Amino acid sequence: MAGAGIEEFLKRRAEDGLLRQLCPAASRRNGMLSFGGREYIDFSSNDYLGLSHDPRLIAEAAKALETWGVSSSASRLMSGDLDIHHQLETKTAAFKKKEAALVFNSGYQANVGILSALYGKSDCIFADRLCHASIIDGVLLSGARLFRFRHNDAGHARVLIEKERNKFRNALIVTESIFSMEGDRAPLDELVGLKERYDCAMMADEAHATGIFGAGGSGVVEDDGLSARIDLIMGTFSKALGGFGGYLAASRATIDYLVNACRSFIYSTALPPSVIACNALSIDIVRKESFRRIQLLENARFLRDGLRQQGFEVRGCSQIVPVMTGETKRTAACAQRLREKGYRVLPIRPPTVPENSARLRLSLTAFHTEEILQRFINDLGDIAF
Ligand SMILES: *Cc1c(COP(=O)(O)O)cnc(C)c1O
Repeated sequence: MAGAGIEEFLKRRAEDGLLRQLCPAASRRNGMLSFGGREYIDFSSNDYLGLSHDPRLIAEAAKALETWGVSSSASRLMSGDLDIHHQLETKTAAFKKKEAALVFNSGYQANVGILSALYGKSDCIFADRLCHASIIDGVLLSGARLFRFRHNDAGHARVLIEKERNKFRNALIVTESIFSMEGDRAPLDELVGLKERYDCAMMADEAHATGIFGAGGSGVVEDDGLSARIDLIMGTFSKALGGFGGYLAASRATIDYLVNACRSFIYSTALPPSVIACNALSIDIVRKESFRRIQLLENARFLRDGLRQQGFEVRGCSQIVPVMTGETKRTAACAQRLREKGYRVLPIRPPTVPENSARLRLSLTAFHTEEILQRFINDLGDIAF
């Protein structure tokens, strides 16, 4: 797109109420955001456990800055590879109960790099229809044939696999374990059954599950007891763990292969030492402090129950709570009224979600006390009806 095409695009987006715009905050702390001189309760952050300002992580980052400086200054295969990168990978592999792990510069770069390095033109990938853009981009870059099954529908996945699997060399089934827009949980056990029956590999994206689910906070894969049977477990340090960067936990051979073949890993400067050190400490904190995730999920239950009592259709079973509002215009109006009442809530509209399934997406964090949630439930009830 060039020249007049760009202006036409922007004009159309604005007319349809779909223009995306950046919105810089003057401050962000303790679950509050401020814009234009006003403070808002933030329901749009992925800082689920409130760790992004944890004093222990800040101190750890400061120590790493003193020791190693502000940058890694080169890619891992040049001189950017530090002991602490390997310590973080060992810790991540243990956290995810896999043989080995590799750290990526973001979850986005992980998905794009992993899929395009491991799969190619003679392969096929079966993905849940609601998988994250980074997964889809990875598949496109790989050149593999993409088949999308209906959301969380293992029966539909089986139909596609039975029909298509044999036409390709390697096959992969990929899903998120907790979905970012639905807040629901994938039927991992059924998908693993398919993977084993039809000679596929399996990948789970635990971006929203890590730190929240599982006895040790490792994610839904751990919670379902499937760590050994899912080949590729990826995720990000940037959500519940409060840090930054992506990772893959997998077999030693897979990780060694990616070090040789994964372009988003090879051709990018290693994450800064302060970030790496924080991520490692954050895994320790999450493993030890289970009260954080237990409280968060209890609060999510409280919010769901309260909203349902008010007559709302609420989806999911995690810290992500989508409130279905149907029409795009009504959803935008609700988000606007909520803003006037001091809440920052994102309206999610087509094309991010299917037509007529617009919603308010509430992201719960450790900062939302029961008192805040009760007030929100009452306020949303007043606004929407
Ligand atoms: C956020 C997210 C990513 C990307 O992770 P970043 O570290 O933010 O790049 C990948 N997959 C899913 C499902 C996500 O929600």
